[in-house]
Amino acid sequence: MKKEIICTVCPRGCHIQVEGEGDKILSVEGQGCKRGLEYASAEFAHPVRILTTLVKLDGQNDLLPVRSNKPVPKEKLFDCMEVIRAATVKAPVNRYDVVVANICGTGVDIVATKAIEG
Ligand code: SF4
Repeated sequence: MKKEIICTVCPRGCHIQVEGEGDKILSVEGQGCKRGLEYASAEFAHPVRILTTLVKLDGQNDLLPVRSNKPVPKEKLFDCMEVIRAATVKAPVNRYDVVVANICGTGVDIVATKAIEG
């Protein structure tokens, strides 16, 4: 399988062609540096994303901005969003409070990125 991956490590945004089978990388071309080689190889074998979104605040019209404390496997993003959509948080909330622990069994916590007074 061949995949084009746009490197997001620096603003140059190299278009890197990765060829492989499953987790096995056969060739990588188009990277401008070694960091891109590492990024594209990891992205090909096991793509992950930092998840940022909003959670409902219990009894308020406001929403609480949250993010994952570590990258989430890309294939789990939809399931994680479903869990977050169903969640509510009661104020007060401090920055970095855990809103959802170990979301979808990923070992990743969803944490508040803003403090909300009660
Ligand atoms: S491969 Fe290197 S030069 Fe190209 S975007 Fe990635 S970090 Fe930047």
